[in-house]
Amino acid sequence: MGDIVIGSGPAGVSAAKALLARGRLVTMLDGGKVLEPQAGAKRDTFAALDPASWNETQRLAWMQPQYETPLGQVRRFGSDFAMEPANATISDAPDWFALRASYAVGGLSNLWGSAVLPYRDQDISDWPVSPDELAPHYRAVAEYLPIAGGSDDLDRVLPAYGLNGQDRIQPSHQATELLARLATKRDALAGIGIFSGGARQAVSTSCHRCGMCLHGCPFGLIWSAQDTLKYLRAHPNFSYQPGAVVLRFAEDSKGVTLHLADGSVLVGNRVFLGTGVLETARILLSSAPEHRELMLKDSQHAFLPMLQRWKNQSQPDQGAYHTLPQIFMEMDVPTISPNLVHSQIYTWNDYFARDLHASYGRKIPFAKPFLTALSRRLIVAQIFLHSDHSHKIGLSLSPDGRLASRLEENNATQHTLKAATKHMARAMRNVGLVALTFASRPGSPGSSFHAGSTLPMSNRQEAGTSDVLGRPAGLERVHVIDASVFPSIPATTITFSVMANAHRIGALAP
Ligand SMILES: Cc1cc2nc3c(=O)[nH]c(=O)nc-3n(C[C@H](O)[C@H](O)[C@H](O)COP(=O)(O)OP(=O)(O)OC[C@H]3O[C@@H](n4cnc5c(N)ncnc54)[C@H](O)[C@@H]3O)c2cc1C
Repeated sequence: MGDIVIGSGPAGVSAAKALLARGRLVTMLDGGKVLEPQAGAKRDTFAALDPASWNETQRLAWMQPQYETPLGQVRRFGSDFAMEPANATISDAPDWFALRASYAVGGLSNLWGSAVLPYRDQDISDWPVSPDELAPHYRAVAEYLPIAGGSDDLDRVLPAYGLNGQDRIQPSHQATELLARLATKRDALAGIGIFSGGARQAVSTSCHRCGMCLHGCPFGLIWSAQDTLKYLRAHPNFSYQPGAVVLRFAEDSKGVTLHLADGSVLVGNRVFLGTGVLETARILLSSAPEHRELMLKDSQHAFLPMLQRWKNQSQPDQGAYHTLPQIFMEMDVPTISPNLVHSQIYTWNDYFARDLHASYGRKIPFAKPFLTALSRRLIVAQIFLHSDHSHKIGLSLSPDGRLASRLEENNATQHTLKAATKHMARAMRNVGLVALTFASRPGSPGSSFHAGSTLPMSNRQEAGTSDVLGRPAGLERVHVIDASVFPSIPATTITFSVMANAHRIGALAP
């Protein structure tokens, strides 16, 4: 009986890495969904051609399926394999509920935006695990997570942990100009608590800048946990069972018994549960009925569109570019939040013009050329708040075995978002951006996909918490390794910290 890691997402592969490094025997289970062969063949055919030779018809054929994605879902590679629709895991899913589960090999990392940052020390000062205890695991993860990023003013507010010593992928022309303007005003901006630098993405620096990031990288250069899983599968102590959906577990003094959806049973010495925060909550609630409701903390986000006052030197939709986050901006303003407010800056992508046409096209006659031109001057900030300023979601088990959800609104959310948006708008005036605050759009609860804390790590062993190794109170052999055990959700990106914490638990578990 070895260790069983449930989930092959960023959390699962990180815990497995650390366990294997200690000579342990690891079996990994997951939901087993993969890109359909037909969609895979389409990707391979597209990627076999030089992006410079792609014509408009070929590009559109790759993008069109994503334009037809059902509302509330995220699609890449023309496939829905990596994200379950709400009703698959949530009973009577309300419209506001935007978080989704994944049964895919590699989980939601097949879809993610690849933005990587650690948490600031002060932002986790109330965690029972100190930044010093997490630091070696952030560094260990940075060894197998390809990270594009360099050294800049972000190092003034956030630890680097190996994120800043690499090459960057070249930012877009709009971002290059904005970065230069931010550098000119860096002291003035630092004086009002704004620190910025190039975005750090989990992307190979051999990126072709073909502009297809939001449709699924045809070349597979955006990291997904599937990449690390390939290496794990070559390890002699590792075995893998895809398509093994776990319903619940039971622990006794000898081990942990897992009950699978196909009716089979599997026994392990120790179990590491990394099925993503929704499935982890469902499995916990099904296994320990004394938990009536688990409270999920969210990191609220909003989109703030801004117009650049400068003229583009070249058209942003021509030539080579990527459409991942281009710039990170951290707001360290205690009157707005004692924690960092994190922003990701996006320059032109093909959704900008589409969204403008959809929102305003019918209201303004003959607007198409005007809106297309406007979209080329649009720069969008995605602003994230700490969970203290965000709504919570109560999760309970519904009689049909899915989760039921309940929104617990936070009165502070609206005014904190407003204050952050206003501060950003004022600051960006200095660098030639006019923020369209009237058009700012908050996301639905869960839509940032930065959520967790259902079973927060704590030094007090009480019901509803886990210990610092992710073990729910009363359990000895079950470790929760995903964001469910985070005591709070800081605003900077979540996955790098999920991986570091899962790696720490894998490295220290008895
Ligand atoms: C569109 C989008 C963009 C994002 N962008 C970013 C970003 O830029 N930066 C960032 O930091 N984060 C981002 N995220 C969030 C990021 O994807 C998640 O934080 C991360 O994937 C969580 O990893 P995980 O391993 O905990 O869970 P998941 O990735 O959800 O993996 C879950 C794993 O568990 C398996 N599983 C699920 N249920 C069961 C079951 N019952 N039995 C067995 N196996 C099961 C699945 O098959 C999968 O292997 C984004 C998410 C989305 C959807």
